[in-house]
Amino acid sequence: LGGAGRLYTEEDPLVILSSGSLKSAVTNSSSAWLIQFFSSWCGHCIQYSSTWKALAQDVKDWQDAVSVGVLDCAQEENFDVCKDYSIKFYPTFKVRQHVPAAGVYTDAGADRSIPSVRQLMVNILQNHTNLDRPKHCPPLEPYSAAQLLPLLGQRSDHYTAILVEEPDSYVGREVILDLLQYSGVQVKRALSSDRPLVDALKLTAFPSIYLLHPNGTHAHLHSEKPLRFFFSSLLRTLPGVQRRLKSSSTSSSGASQVGALPGKQNTEPWRDFDRSKVYMADLESALHYLLRVELATHNTLEGEELKIFKDLVTLVAKLYPGGGSVVKLMETLSDWLLSMPLQRIPYQAVLDLVDNKMRISGVFLGAELRWVGCQGSRAGLRGYPCSLWTLFHVLTVQHDANPTALDNTGLEAEVAPVLQVMRRYIRTFFGCRECGRHFEQAASVGMDNVQNREQQILWLWQQHNRVNMRLAGSLSDDPLFPKAPWPSPSLCASCHEEKNGIHVWNQDNVLRFLRHHYAASNLSPEYSV
Ligand code: FAD
Repeated sequence: LGGAGRLYTEEDPLVILSSGSLKSAVTNSSSAWLIQFFSSWCGHCIQYSSTWKALAQDVKDWQDAVSVGVLDCAQEENFDVCKDYSIKFYPTFKVRQHVPAAGVYTDAGADRSIPSVRQLMVNILQNHTNLDRPKHCPPLEPYSAAQLLPLLGQRSDHYTAILVEEPDSYVGREVILDLLQYSGVQVKRALSSDRPLVDALKLTAFPSIYLLHPNGTHAHLHSEKPLRFFFSSLLRTLPGVQRRLKSSSTSSSGASQVGALPGKQNTEPWRDFDRSKVYMADLESALHYLLRVELATHNTLEGEELKIFKDLVTLVAKLYPGGGSVVKLMETLSDWLLSMPLQRIPYQAVLDLVDNKMRISGVFLGAELRWVGCQGSRAGLRGYPCSLWTLFHVLTVQHDANPTALDNTGLEAEVAPVLQVMRRYIRTFFGCRECGRHFEQAASVGMDNVQNREQQILWLWQQHNRVNMRLAGSLSDDPLFPKAPWPSPSLCASCHEEKNGIHVWNQDNVLRFLRHHYAASNLSPEYSV
């Protein structure tokens, strides 16, 4: 089946199996499997595909222990294998325990909701004996007071999180699996019925986490809400806890291209910063890089490219918060561009203006890249792409706060001018081609539905989160700043809820948070020029 007709693509966080790959992928695998045999002509399978993708996303970090796959029985090459496995109805779910060589498939019943499939996956894993459990799967059975209490006060090279819960709760096992790809923390579960443990740790509410620190101290870990998402996020962001990088890049190619950009930051001293703030130094560095490096690879700008450049300069001149040098520079640049009768300008003239003429009049953009909130733990990580996202988030929020700012610029007629200018810039100039292709694809599907300034803020937030999810664990993921749904519960607890066992966003609170986070009042001038 070609492109649009396919229910699942390589971009989905699951394994697309075929008769050719099924045996080798599954038999040689070190994990258990849950496979959906479907048919791309079956209407119900089409509807169910979004649930299955959401499930696969939800348990993406469990894949070393249990993998999720799909196999399309409507493809001719798969007819035989579907017959061999006696697939009569679609979808049919089969699980395969991790039993080397002689693994058997068993039916996993009819289609279900995400939480019940998730529980089924936990049950599959628990059905293994200690000997045949997938090698990356830690024990899922509860530990006892006798096993856990001696750990209190001991030093270690990692955190130990003891998640204590009611006997029928799955949260503990889900959190253990959520942390599978992370080093620096071990999660163990225990039961609320274990009185000696509960009394010793003085726990009164369940589920809750008792945390043993590497230095031997220990305490109850405060979580705003007793939910899987909160527990997992808190543990993932403990100091020193890191995602183990995959050995090979995933579909998120392009990362190395973006990452290879500014190379200076590893020789620079670390700049302490506050994750709840936005730093002017990052915005200035974004513009520095954009104007002096990214665009400077173009000898001349003409036609559509020139128009896109002018629009970007106008947008920044009108919406950049706080006045100051940057706004003056962009205003001068904008006036200069508008006054030029030429259809084609040599880019050197722009550089001269930015570098020399402006400096003489005391208006200049930082002469160097200075990442703060966008610092990477080593050269090649974070930096420019991070600051570009930040800049556009700021601009969506500024547009919302100043609705008339773009009047008489030619951009006022657009429903979502910030997104449209960003889209055109990324498509035309952003150095990472693959990123541009992904972004354009997303924009062509959803950007035109944006009706107002609030939706403009939320669309960019949502799209950025999609990229975060796709890139989590890839080579461009900085271990010190692992990609995760943002804002985390520690930045905004009220942004997160759980509905029917699934994490959901409270969009009203997300909007409120974004308006605050990217507001002019939350911009820190520290480290800025
Ligand atoms: P970033 O993702 O760059 O985020 C920067 C900061 O923004 C974070 O530190 C956080 O404070 C905040 N933030 C995070 N999420 C959100 C959110 N949802 N809403 C609001 N603020 C948020 N790389 C690829 O490998 N493949 C791609 O296809 C790709 N596409 C890209 C498309 C665009 C338009 C851009 C600008 C970048 C793209 N990149 C891509 C780069 C990638 O998204 C990251 O920017 C880069 O890997 C650096 O990541 P980071 O950890 O600094 O965080």
